[in-house]
Amino acid sequence: MNLHEFQGKEILNSFGVEIQRGHVATTPQEAVSAAKKLTEETGTGWHVIKAQVHAGGRGKGGGVKLAKSIEEVERISGEIIGMNLITPQTSAEGKKVHQVLIAEDVYYPGENEPEEYYMSVLLNRANGKNMIMYSTEGGMDIETVAEETPHLIFTEEIDPAAGLLPFQARRVAFNLGLSGKAFKEMTKFVTALYKAYIASDASLFEINPVLKTSDDRVIAVDAKVSLDDNALFRHKDYEAMRDLREENAIEVEAKEVGLNYVDLDGNVGCMVNGAGLAMATMDLIKQAGGEPANFLDVGGTADAERVEAAFKLILKDPNVKAILVNIFGGIVRCDRVAQGIVDAYKNMGTINVPIIVRLQGTNADIAKELIDNSGLDVQSAIEFQEAADKVQAVLA
Ligand code: GDP
Ligand code: MN
Repeated sequence: MNLHEFQGKEILNSFGVEIQRGHVATTPQEAVSAAKKLTEETGTGWHVIKAQVHAGGRGKGGGVKLAKSIEEVERISGEIIGMNLITPQTSAEGKKVHQVLIAEDVYYPGENEPEEYYMSVLLNRANGKNMIMYSTEGGMDIETVAEETPHLIFTEEIDPAAGLLPFQARRVAFNLGLSGKAFKEMTKFVTALYKAYIASDASLFEINPVLKTSDDRVIAVDAKVSLDDNALFRHKDYEAMRDLREENAIEVEAKEVGLNYVDLDGNVGCMVNGAGLAMATMDLIKQAGGEPANFLDVGGTADAERVEAAFKLILKDPNVKAILVNIFGGIVRCDRVAQGIVDAYKNMGTINVPIIVRLQGTNADIAKELIDNSGLDVQSAIEFQEAADKVQAVLA
C-alpha cells in the first residue's frame, strides 16, 4: 500500500525521524488556517504548498510551490487543489489533486547553504538483507544519478538479525561528507529511519530530499512510503490511511469481491485459477505475440457467480479485445466450470469480445462438449498452445 507524503511523514515522525512539519488542507480557507497554525508552532514566515498525490516529481509538474505570504498561500492552494497534476511519474492524463500539504519553509538562509541528499531503505532480495541507499545528489531523479554518476550512490547493507549497527550509521554520515553537529544529526536520522522502516513493516522508504538545513539540522522534506499489504493486519491505524481515490478502480473492485486482479497494459483479458498458472498464461500470450490486459486469479472456487464477477471485471477495461479463460480442473471439475462460464455468459447478455476457453483436468472432455454445444460465441481448446494460437487468430 502506498501512502501520501503527509502520511509517510507522520509515521516517520512517530519513530523520532525529524521532518519538515505541516498540515493538510482540502480548501484554500483550510490552507490559510493551516499556514497560520504552522507559523505559531514553528515560527516559519514562508510556506510550501505541496500537492498530495501518489506520484513523485510533483515539483517538476507544478505541484510544489513556495508561498511568501498568507495571500499567496490562499492563491496557490486554490490553483493546486483540483488541478490535474501531470508529472514524469503519472500517466499522460495526470492525477487529480484533492488535498495539499501546507509545510514550513525549511530552506531558510543561515550560516551554511542548505544541502539536499537522497536516502532510501528497502529490501535487497538478492541476499535477503535490508539496505540503505544514499547519495550526496539529493533532490533530483535518482535514476539519472545511477546512470550518469553511479559512484555517487552508496549502499549500507543491514543484517536483519543484528539491525543497523552504530558504526554503520556513522559511515553513512561520513560518506555524505558531514562533520560536527550535522554528523551527529545524520546518525540520529538514519538510526530512527531504519527503526521506523522495521517497525512499520514497510517495503520501501524513499526520502528525497533529506535536507541539511542552514543551521545543520537533518530533516525529511519528502517521504515516499510503501507498506507491506501482508502485514497491514498488525497496523489497523495505517490501514485506515488507504486512499482508494489513488488506486486503480478495477483493482479496488476486485478486492471487494475477493478476486486477485492486477491491471496491465495489454489487450488480452485473462481468467485463470492459481497464481502460477496465471503467470504461465501471461507468458504464453506474450510468446504468441499478444499482451495480457491483466493478471487475474479466480482462486479455487470457479463457480458461475465468481466467473461472472471475473468477466465483468475484465470487461471494464476498454482495451480488452479478447478473453482467454485458462482453468485447471482439479478439485473443481472442468464441467462445473464450463457450466459456470455458460451461465455467466447467458446472464450477462452480450459479451462483445471473443472468448477462448481452455479447460484441462477432471472431466475436460465433458466440459469441451458443454462449451461447443452451448450455441454461444465461445471457442474451446484443450491444449495450452492451441488456446494461445486461437487468441492470436481472433486478434489478427
Ligand atoms: P517531489 O517533486 O514530488 O519529489 O516533491 P518534494 O517534496 O521532493 O519537493 C520538490 C522540491 O521542492 C524539493 O526538491 C525542493 O527543492 C523544493 N522544496 C521542498 N520544500 C521546500 C521548502 O521548504 N522551501 C523551499 N524553498 N523549497 C522546498
Ligand atoms: Mn521528492
